[in-house]
Amino acid sequence: MKLTFAGTGSAFCMAADNFQSNMVLETTPSGDEQSQRLLIDCGSDARHSLRNLGYMPNDFDAVYVSHLHSDHIGGLEWMALANYFVFDGHRTKLFAAHELLDPLWEHCLRGGLETSDHGNSQLSSYFDVVPLFAENGFDWKGLHMDVVPVAHIVTDENTMFSYGLFGHGKKQSFFLTTDAIFNPDAHMPLYRKADVIFQDCELGPRHSGVHAHYNELVTLPDEIKAKMWLYHYQAYDKPDAVADGFCGFIQPGQSFDLG
Ligand SMILES: [Zn+2]
Ligand SMILES: [Zn+2]
Repeated sequence: MKLTFAGTGSAFCMAADNFQSNMVLETTPSGDEQSQRLLIDCGSDARHSLRNLGYMPNDFDAVYVSHLHSDHIGGLEWMALANYFVFDGHRTKLFAAHELLDPLWEHCLRGGLETSDHGNSQLSSYFDVVPLFAENGFDWKGLHMDVVPVAHIVTDENTMFSYGLFGHGKKQSFFLTTDAIFNPDAHMPLYRKADVIFQDCELGPRHSGVHAHYNELVTLPDEIKAKMWLYHYQAYDKPDAVADGFCGFIQPGQSFDLG
């Protein structure tokens, strides 16, 4: 199983050589088997970042959605319509926490996808929808993943969660935070358990309060930083993360062998 970062940028990253933080998890085929691919988040620039890796929308068996910001779901209309009209109705599974599915349709996708040539559509007209429950997680091609709600935006009125993943790979377990505040109390058990951590990391002068900032992450214990890779960053000059004890900043297109 291989994890490739189609992009490692934040939602507003304007670097010419980077894209939003969407990833491709791919099986390692043996013999004549074909690779199977799970797209982890499908942001508004996915049609470019995936093409850059050589993939078309019908190259995916499934899509996982972590939360409803457009750098994570803004490409789903493109994927749905391209698969429907261009790729002979190719269908992918759509894995998402069950709480996200109604708002994903009602607030994000219905305007563009409801009225189609065959009459009125629903999410299930385009995707094989698989509602997820955090307590159960899900299995994909022999890999079990825990679904981990992480606080992303906390206000007096509301908390917006993103749904991170803890994957139990044959070779390595991994914690993919997705978009998350700096929350060491909540995340430390997963940080300790994981063999490798893929961590949301904000850069630059502004601390948004909705992503972990580099200046916060650098305070983590050395043994945690030693297995932590950083992504979802803006196009600012990067600090020397290796000198600070991290594995480093993930580069766009970089892959990890998860066994
Ligand atoms: Zn994001
Ligand atoms: Zn977000």
